[in-house]
Amino acid sequence: MEERRVVGWAARDSTAIIFPYSFTIRNTGPEDVTFKVLYCGLDHTDLHQIRNEIHMTNYPLVPGHEVVGEVVEVGVSVNKFKVGDLVGVGGIIGSCGDCSSCKSNMEQYCKDRIMTYNGVDKDGKPTQGGFSSAMVVHQKYVVRIPGKLAPEQAAPLLCAGVTAYGPMKQFIQSGKAVVNAGILGLGGVGHLGVMIAKAMGHHVTVISSSDKKRVEALEHLGADAFLISSNAEEMARAADSLDYILDTVPAVHPLESYIQLLKVKGKVCMVGVSPKPLQFDSDALILGKKSIVGSLMGSIEETQELLEFWVEKGLKSRIEIVKMDYVNEAFERMERNDVRYRFVIDVAGSNLN
Ligand code: NAP
Ligand code: ZN
Repeated sequence: MEERRVVGWAARDSTAIIFPYSFTIRNTGPEDVTFKVLYCGLDHTDLHQIRNEIHMTNYPLVPGHEVVGEVVEVGVSVNKFKVGDLVGVGGIIGSCGDCSSCKSNMEQYCKDRIMTYNGVDKDGKPTQGGFSSAMVVHQKYVVRIPGKLAPEQAAPLLCAGVTAYGPMKQFIQSGKAVVNAGILGLGGVGHLGVMIAKAMGHHVTVISSSDKKRVEALEHLGADAFLISSNAEEMARAADSLDYILDTVPAVHPLESYIQLLKVKGKVCMVGVSPKPLQFDSDALILGKKSIVGSLMGSIEETQELLEFWVEKGLKSRIEIVKMDYVNEAFERMERNDVRYRFVIDVAGSNLN
């Protein structure tokens, strides 16, 4: 198959510095959508990955899995998209299509899922993400960006947003009228989590590592309560109050202090990835029939659903738009918890060379 050359930015080793990088992508196949990348969100997973903290990273690595683009070419069998459409791609660009996960719209759990980058595509080539002038993706893994949604606004929803949305929807389905939700860590995933949970009608408590985001959480994002995790007295007062906690912390952290916030049968849903194993006292779960569960991004169907939900509810993510030549600084700032709340790279507006 012929290939087209694209320009992008890649990490060459685990020093977490991104360099300009030119590489090839396949030409548009019958089921493919080829798009010019417009915007790409910066997820903490990108940082974990370029640092080789969570999965074996293959370099050079072109990160980016909250990608919004404009279609420039479609394959002969593509009828869902046409040239000029605004489209999005999240964390996966392929799966087997045949297993029980794939057949029940949970293809992100397919054992043969193909990650958007640091994966291996069906042609045996390494997959590369959205820090690139263009991408080519099978139509099944492409979503449509609703007309009323600005492309830069859509970017963080494609991974961070749907990571919060999927589990929250399940907690609603447990049948309670008002769900008491906790959001642990007010970063990219966390801030979208607050807005989504509020829009679903949950009562939302933010659990944060400092007092710095209190006003923003309560007044701008609409949270109902705010706890500082290091304040033992405040945490003890809030014991037994939450139905679930969405845990977005990207580091080792003590679980018992959060588990105590749950009511009987409450759940901690882990979405934050700790580079090292976490520990907890089993009594913390046993004595309250509590559980710790995990969740990976969302399906393509859920991602599309979230985009529609976001527009319907009139929500707006808090983003800082930067150019590609700022990306190394952006990663450093993300690391020091200095972003409100998601960097989005203006890829098309950057000089990729
Ligand atoms: P982020 O923007 O850096 O936000 C993480 C937040 O966690 C920070 O804003 C901070 O909030 C808190 N935090 C950071 N370091 C901490 C520490 N050492 N101890 C306690 N709290 C800390 O990251 P993100 O992009 O939202 O991603 C969060 C995590 O989710 C990452 O591990 C990422 O890899 C993972 N993720 C997983 C999925 C999935 O499918 N499961 C999808 C997307 C992301 P406060 O200031 O409020 O404390
Ligand atoms: Zn499968």
